[in-house]
Amino acid sequence: VVFAESSGSIDVTAEQQHQQQQHQHQHQHQQQQHQPPHEQPPPSSSGGVQVLVRVRPPLPRELMYDSSVDVRPPYDVKVYNDTQEFSGRYNCVFGEDTPQAEVYEKVRDCVPLALAGYNSTVFAYGQTGTGKTYTMMGDDPDMGSAAEGGRGGGPGIIPRAVKELFREAKAKQDTEGAAIQVIVSYMEIYNDRLHDLLQPYKQSSTRDPADVNQRRALLEVREDARGHTYVPNLLCVKVKSYKSVYQLIAKGAGAWGQQRCGLQHDALC
Ligand code: ADP
Ligand code: MG
Repeated sequence: VVFAESSGSIDVTAEQQHQQQQHQHQHQHQQQQHQPPHEQPPPSSSGGVQVLVRVRPPLPRELMYDSSVDVRPPYDVKVYNDTQEFSGRYNCVFGEDTPQAEVYEKVRDCVPLALAGYNSTVFAYGQTGTGKTYTMMGDDPDMGSAAEGGRGGGPGIIPRAVKELFREAKAKQDTEGAAIQVIVSYMEIYNDRLHDLLQPYKQSSTRDPADVNQRRALLEVREDARGHTYVPNLLCVKVKSYKSVYQLIAKGAGAWGQQRCGLQHDALC
């Protein structure tokens, strides 16, 4: 799984965003040219987009195959087969034994940055089964009971970041008297359809009761005059605690394999 962290000021202009995208494009282009790692520019930790790669352990059904990935922390990874190889250099690469806590350390800056007024995004990318859900959600949403360590078990980035967000927001409120409001929305793009995972299901319009996606509210992505992207009618829920977020996520997708649970909205906007 590859995930990217980015931060930019709230007033990032469309032009700047465009430049960032171009930069990313060039970066990917360079990697496609199979430059040896030592000829690539060293990873930069200055703002903008960072790309981190996490390689998961083989699944039981994959154990019969030889590994075709060499992870060389902290920056390099090589993927190969009998006839070709690809080497890439990233802001960080994590091997298969990397604990969740170590992965979180590399992106945790997003939380204070968000509270300082910057847009912060953590974006997970990879084909099905590469470890996106494991990395973002973790295999156990309950920080308290998580058996940390081992082969990376325990909560992932989202529960850790949300806990830290409320902790830091409270500290900022106590020390600076700042009024901080946390608002959650939760949507999914699946087969090019955009669903609001927090909106109640519509009445079934199909005969197939399993076809949940047909019954979700459909949304659109729009751009306003200033080039800002937004989703009209996406449900936004004001939340006051980690627990509310946890309930919303559980309600939204059964993302941790949980059943939909009763939900107390703190408020709706
Ligand atoms: P995705 O969301 O990208 O489709 P998952 O997060 O569901 O993939 O991961 C697929 C499988 O691999 C799951 O069984 C998950 O528990 C396991 N897995 C993923 N990443 C790791 C990891 N870093 N360590 C151990 N198991 C992992
Ligand atoms: Mg997943």
